Amino acid sequence: MAVSHSLGFPRIGADRELKKALEAHWKGELDEAGLRLVGKQLRAAHWQLQKDAGLDLLPVGDFAWYDQVLTHSLSFGVIPERFKPQSGAPGLDTLFAMARGVSQRCCGQHDSAGHALEMTKWFDTNYHYLVPEFTADQQFQLSWEQLFEEVDEAHALGHKVKPVVIGPLTYLWLGKAKGEAFDKLELLDRLLPLYGEILTRLAAQGVEWVQIDEPILGLDLPQDWKNAFERAYNLIQHAPLKKLVACYFSGLEDNLGLAVNLPVDGLHVDLVRAPEQLPMLLDRLPAYKVLSLGVVNGRNVWGCDLEAALSQLQQAEQRFAGNLWVAGSCSLLHSPVDLRREDQLDDELKSWLAFAVQKCAEIAVLTKALNNPQSPEVIRVLEHSADIQRSRASSSRIHKEAVHQRLAAITAADSQRTSAFAERIELQRSRLQLPAFPTTTIGSFPQTPAIRLARQAFKQGKLSRSDYTEAMYSEIRHAVTIQENLGLDVLVHGEAERNDMVEYFAEQIDGYAFTRFGWVQSYGSRCVKPAIIVGDLSRPQPMTVDWIRYAQGLTNKVMKGMLTGPVTMLMWSFPREDVSREVQAKQLALAIRDEVVDLEAAGIRIVQIDEAAFREGLPLRKAAWQGYLDWATEAFRLCASGVRDETQIHTHMCYSEFNDVIESIAAMDADVITIETSRSDMELLDAFEAFAYPNDIGPGVYDIHSPRVPDSREMIKLMSKAVKRIPAERLWVNPDCGLKTRAWPETEAALINMVSAARQLRAALSA
Ligand code: GLN
Ligand code: ZN
Repeated sequence: MAVSHSLGFPRIGADRELKKALEAHWKGELDEAGLRLVGKQLRAAHWQLQKDAGLDLLPVGDFAWYDQVLTHSLSFGVIPERFKPQSGAPGLDTLFAMARGVSQRCCGQHDSAGHALEMTKWFDTNYHYLVPEFTADQQFQLSWEQLFEEVDEAHALGHKVKPVVIGPLTYLWLGKAKGEAFDKLELLDRLLPLYGEILTRLAAQGVEWVQIDEPILGLDLPQDWKNAFERAYNLIQHAPLKKLVACYFSGLEDNLGLAVNLPVDGLHVDLVRAPEQLPMLLDRLPAYKVLSLGVVNGRNVWGCDLEAALSQLQQAEQRFAGNLWVAGSCSLLHSPVDLRREDQLDDELKSWLAFAVQKCAEIAVLTKALNNPQSPEVIRVLEHSADIQRSRASSSRIHKEAVHQRLAAITAADSQRTSAFAERIELQRSRLQLPAFPTTTIGSFPQTPAIRLARQAFKQGKLSRSDYTEAMYSEIRHAVTIQENLGLDVLVHGEAERNDMVEYFAEQIDGYAFTRFGWVQSYGSRCVKPAIIVGDLSRPQPMTVDWIRYAQGLTNKVMKGMLTGPVTMLMWSFPREDVSREVQAKQLALAIRDEVVDLEAAGIRIVQIDEAAFREGLPLRKAAWQGYLDWATEAFRLCASGVRDETQIHTHMCYSEFNDVIESIAAMDADVITIETSRSDMELLDAFEAFAYPNDIGPGVYDIHSPRVPDSREMIKLMSKAVKRIPAERLWVNPDCGLKTRAWPETEAALINMVSAARQLRAALSA
């Protein structure tokens, strides 16, 4: 008999109950008992939903108060000194302190002693985990009972469960060595006994199967890490329960031989991301092991093509008849919770979608189709799924001839500016007449409560369009006046009218759809609600021109138009699965290109196209990087190349790891790039040592993530570092990122210092 299971379920709640409870708890409005009760109710509800959907084995350990990696750090006692409780065992307060930091005020000064653990992206998802901190003398000890308690809780509810833990190699891989340098792998032998302990305790609780997540098996691993796998699993193989090792997000590829031979009882693979690995797996995985096939996409909102999935499963069934498991590709953490709540989507679109609850039902019906192919219910559901696939394949809502034709007509010249940078910049300089070290900001100004209230009232129909427009115009006037008084050189309108840098544009592009409750956890209590790319994308009319033209009309200074780039639009949306990411990026590029051209026609001399998510699109495997970088840079150039040489194109990226993609960033050929550098003390500019970045660049001179106001000396010091690597005439002066999360007082204070820094730099240059 085939078995159905899920690798994990979203923990946040269909109504974001966990988010609300956490935030109430942090504000002191909900005590710990109240918070724990919400968690317990959510777990119970989620198990029941999965069981009702028809799953055989339910996950435990997918619930986390903040993040599952952080839960493991507590379990293993990986608690940095600065968070160790003075006495007794760590509690939820320890966990939240590690996640959010503790600000201890001493003598009126902010003390960084309690700074939170670093946060970073979980593989190539938009989920962020808390990075474990290891020291050379790291000790591990079982310090957290959550997993065992939740197993008891599920058993008490009568569920058959499969606990989920992060495997030892993946856990070590995700952490960071702190203090004296050492190799994290050296910690493995100290860590493994804990796995033995945990598995033995789970077995004693009556657990038959445990799922051990080792997603790093989908990465390019150094040889010593590959070797360590065998060693580690040889040691934990003796624990008296069955082990399913799970790899997801990427194919096993060169780690396949290693994975199939691990001394464990089963292997889960992601067939959505890497279907091509199936034949090889069928060939090489010993038939006495369990093969779990992730055929339902855990990372997107589209309904599964059940016939296609079934045919993959049937191939496997011949060899793994009694040992075949059916699952989502990865944990359902990355999809929204329940489609049934979407009361404002039309029936057709709804019939194409599946959220976590619906995905569980898909997994269950595929399992039934293997076990009981003649069941009338199975036959009906499969036929229905086939109908839906057909209706999508031919829907005029998805396929737009005009978009296809435009895409097909693109030539190489379309993604090429007329002249090379050296010629363009001369024309731009004489047109813009900016001083050396020109000052600018990244686009947004403080999103004040008044702005948010006005937008909310407008959306609820309580504020008329003209009143809303007037309210936003007044914000723009305010922002322009402040910038003129500050003496900034290139102004922005402030983005008051934008809720979010992707959603604002998606709402105006044809081919997007929006949910009401499609929340996905990003980190801790933070959720995002990505827009869905449903069909071919196009821009029916200008999206920003009125606002920017209005702003330019208020000033004689240069007003910079502000757009979000195609790669970022794509990365922060749920993409289609029937066409490639490349095609979707190019459609977006054409839509944005039209906007760039319209801004130019409206007299705007500088247009910035933000690509905040450019680097996150990188595939997990290095071999696939260049392919991605090629189309991603081309998409950017396609949207930036419709304008005359004298129109200056800026781009902005906010992260500090550039070294490995610097050549592609240069290939984007933006006239000016503004980047994050201040937090890393301009270390990022090391990339510019080895590679001579050819165009203008604005290395951020202050960190906008905190309200701290740096003085101009600090900024000059940072710029002096930059001048050592980049000729002064190609440098701009700007903050790290947009200022929307800041308040006006600190924003003005910091910008006064920034303008003063630029003036001093100019004076020094001309002296
Ligand atoms: N223009 C955007 C802003 O200033 C850029 C935001 C970002 O890069 N994340 O807010
Ligand atoms: Zn930014």
